[in-house]
Amino acid sequence: MNYYNLKDKEEVVDFKTATIKGQGREKGLFFPSTIPRLDEDFIRNLSYLTDEEIAFQCMKDFVGGSIPADELKKIISETISFDIPLHQINAQISVLELFHGPTLAFKDIGAKFMSGCLSYFLKDENRKVTVLVATSGDTGGAVAHGFYKAKNIDVVILYPKNRVSFVQEKQLTTLGENIYALEVNGSFDNCQDLVKQAFSDEEINAQLFLTSANSINVARWLPQQIYYLLALKQWQKTENEKPVICVPSGNFGNICAGLLAHFRGMPAEHFIAACNENDGFPKYLKTQKMTVQKTVPTLSNAMDVGNPSNFVRISELFGNQFGAVKHKISGYSVDDEKTMETIKNVYLKYNYMLDPHTAVAFASLEQYLTEYPDKKGFVLGTAHPVKFPDPVEKATKAKVEIPDSLQDLIKREKKTVEINSDFEELRRFLLNKN
Ligand SMILES: *Cc1c(COP(=O)(O)O)cnc(C)c1O
Repeated sequence: MNYYNLKDKEEVVDFKTATIKGQGREKGLFFPSTIPRLDEDFIRNLSYLTDEEIAFQCMKDFVGGSIPADELKKIISETISFDIPLHQINAQISVLELFHGPTLAFKDIGAKFMSGCLSYFLKDENRKVTVLVATSGDTGGAVAHGFYKAKNIDVVILYPKNRVSFVQEKQLTTLGENIYALEVNGSFDNCQDLVKQAFSDEEINAQLFLTSANSINVARWLPQQIYYLLALKQWQKTENEKPVICVPSGNFGNICAGLLAHFRGMPAEHFIAACNENDGFPKYLKTQKMTVQKTVPTLSNAMDVGNPSNFVRISELFGNQFGAVKHKISGYSVDDEKTMETIKNVYLKYNYMLDPHTAVAFASLEQYLTEYPDKKGFVLGTAHPVKFPDPVEKATKAKVEIPDSLQDLIKREKKTVEINSDFEELRRFLLNKN
């Protein structure tokens, strides 16, 4: 499979190059040059296949040529090494629980897959790659765990001091080895600015090979198709109608992967992009204009994105036809008040705890179902409530139980390097780390 640069279609690369480089010239995103169909029999027979077989069928065409089948199978089995249950809440709504992985968020899947691919590509090389990421909380932990002890890869994570939750900080800062956590005296935006400066700094790039690990990278974006198929496998056991699929969206990598699977033949009635007050996409569906908005801080902070990077991929999938996008995707914007109310109501009614991100999606799907009362669907549960205990406990007036897998983690000691929001300090750290 080849990938072309959406900003410069002359630039065509294979999966290996797309994974190592992350993005193309002029910061363009890579996009697959063909959309391989999923076999109809494969879709019909999902329930007879193991999760690993489904994931392999899903990914093989995208990776083919760059990674041999047996290696790809190994990467896949390390990636989906935990349950992804479709949990029914009421007659119309289920939650696909993507938060049983090592850092209790769906990003574990993309991060681990990308780490497996990158490690494979670098295993016989002498060069070392440094993965540099800024995080508002969730990405950092998933990347840290996904890349922990990966050969020839260092990971440097910048996070805003005192602005990530207790569990998130432990996930980021307690691994050590090839994972470096930088605690920045500043905001998430400051962290992101520092990372951007590093990517354009000549001296740093001459000494280190820097890459990012966000959903811009095809190796993190594409494997997200897998869990839509795993959801469908479970859905088909009890349902005959196609599902409405509702995705809590920030950078739109996740929903874009679902749409890609749909274009390949995965049945879906409709998609919903569930947003918090950062509502650029719902506005676009109304006005046909996508504008860069200033980021508004919300309870679902992993979705606080003013300029979603995967929008261009969605547009490309639909042949840049606004009418086609609008026909397949609805968009809703849910504010913090409604998010809290949803967490509370779902807990009281169904004894089920939602994290704020999943709650935004739950509220959006409920709203859609008032307009289309004969439909059914599922929301993607992107994080475990224990990652956001303050709002969840406030809304439910109940204690969030800490899963066993975290008991050991929260006892571990935090190791960080504290820096100011000053590029010189980051530069010094990067150039001297090894
Ligand atoms: C990253 C994240 C999202 C948003 O996913 P995108 O692919 O950026 O749209 C939603 N929920 C949680 C918990 C996240 O960490």
